[in-house]
Amino acid sequence: MHKLRGHHLICLHFFKAHGLDNEFQEALRRILSSISEVEVVEGIDEICEVCDYNTGVCGYSENSEEKIGELDRFALQKLGLKTGTMIKWIELKPKIYEMIEEWKDFACKNCEWRGACDV
Ligand code: SF4
Repeated sequence: MHKLRGHHLICLHFFKAHGLDNEFQEALRRILSSISEVEVVEGIDEICEVCDYNTGVCGYSENSEEKIGELDRFALQKLGLKTGTMIKWIELKPKIYEMIEEWKDFACKNCEWRGACDV
């Protein structure tokens, strides 16, 4: 069982296995290779745990936890999920494809991690 926050439920689907720091990349590959069911969590998740910006909250930039929280809430609202929900990874895919255009408008336009993703 993997634990992921809202926006990572989406972003991990489009992750490219290059363009990021090796240790982080490796951790994402490990998660992806064993993912079958996910529990939706709030705040720091399994991906954040291996990220250098994890300070107990997202410390990527000033107010980043707040901004990331907005992405998480938007993702969960559009996917029809809540914190604590368990869902199979395979059941998530069609939900993501239904909302991906809205997601691109809301989240991808200004995302600094675009180089690591194939959306
Ligand atoms: S940048 Fe922030 S939200 Fe993204 S993985 Fe790192 S700690 Fe988590």
